[in-house]
Amino acid sequence: MLLTMEHSKISAWLRESDQTRLAQLWQEADGVRRRAVGDAVHLRGLIEFSNYCRRQCAYCGLRADNRNVQRYCMSDAEIMQCAGQAVQFGYGTVVLQSGEDPGVSAERMSRLVRRIKSRTPLAVTLSLGERTDEELAQWRAAGADRYLLRFETSNRRLYERIHPPRPGTRSDRIAILHTLRKLDYEVGSGVMIGIPGQTHDDLARDIRLFGSLNLDMIGVGPYLVHPDAPLADPLRRPAAPSGQQVPADDLTTCKVIALTRLVCPRANIPATTALATVNKDDGMELGLTRGANVFMPNLTPPEYRVLYEIYPNKACTSEADDGHRRVRERIEAIGRTVGSSRGDSSNYLDRHDPAPSPY
Ligand code: SAH
Repeated sequence: MLLTMEHSKISAWLRESDQTRLAQLWQEADGVRRRAVGDAVHLRGLIEFSNYCRRQCAYCGLRADNRNVQRYCMSDAEIMQCAGQAVQFGYGTVVLQSGEDPGVSAERMSRLVRRIKSRTPLAVTLSLGERTDEELAQWRAAGADRYLLRFETSNRRLYERIHPPRPGTRSDRIAILHTLRKLDYEVGSGVMIGIPGQTHDDLARDIRLFGSLNLDMIGVGPYLVHPDAPLADPLRRPAAPSGQQVPADDLTTCKVIALTRLVCPRANIPATTALATVNKDDGMELGLTRGANVFMPNLTPPEYRVLYEIYPNKACTSEADDGHRRVRERIEAIGRTVGSSRGDSSNYLDRHDPAPSPY
């Protein structure tokens, strides 16, 4: 069941600056998180396997026109090696993410998903951008469990400015999310926070949309400037009316995480890499104590990871044993446990359970 919260209330929380009031919001979100999804923090091994992209997103460093990126696509053997590392570290899931790369054929992806599913106990999440209904169906049939596709902003005018469609097409991520649901994926989406031109009201509508889409996974992170992307240029940046621009900071991100937890109690919500990047000291801990229950350590080999530059200076939670140990220690230091299962979305399980939880 979803808790409803009025637009005006969400919008007011997003503007709240009183520390005492905010402490109440954090406490409420943390309590709902504990009661609805428990204390386990599920780890997902992120494999950024290709940085080729056919799109021209105004925020992203991987956009097709950026000639300053050296492009790569990992081999099946390299990807399988990373999946093996996820198993070794005890992670329940691998996330295969890439630019929107037409070089990655539907057949290759199906083969890869089948191979991971037959050789490991891992859940497989795909995050490959906007692909056809047929491709999404084929990958689901091959055994893919989950798909991540952020709608980025629910403000259609802003979306069109920052996320142009491919020539001759319309980009409709909400329609794709409905398709994913029909295909019985665990469906993940999310937005960036502090996109130039984004207002608190936009963000409040985003959070309400998470609820009405009844998402299984919701990832939100601050927008970070990439110097080679058009949004870095003040002359090409959309502007919000005076005083209404959402800041792209850790505080606002935590507010969105907390409010999202209140609206979607049973969803899986990560403390994202972008949050850990704007606040390298304790971004992860802030997210996890204000509503989040997932973290995604990066398993991409270092020589490729530096090239998967959607934004600069990505926080580096390393695949090395040390980095892995450190993530565990940090989770235990805030009184939480590391999840030992696949960490399926409780929201998804509820849909398949005749006697769902009171949340
Ligand atoms: N090609 C896939 C994966 C993109 S990367 C897709 O389009 O879905 C995953 C997410 O990173 C994006 O959905 C976007 O929300 C986020 N992202 C991209 N560039 C960013 C930036 N400059 N700052 C913050 N987040 C960014």
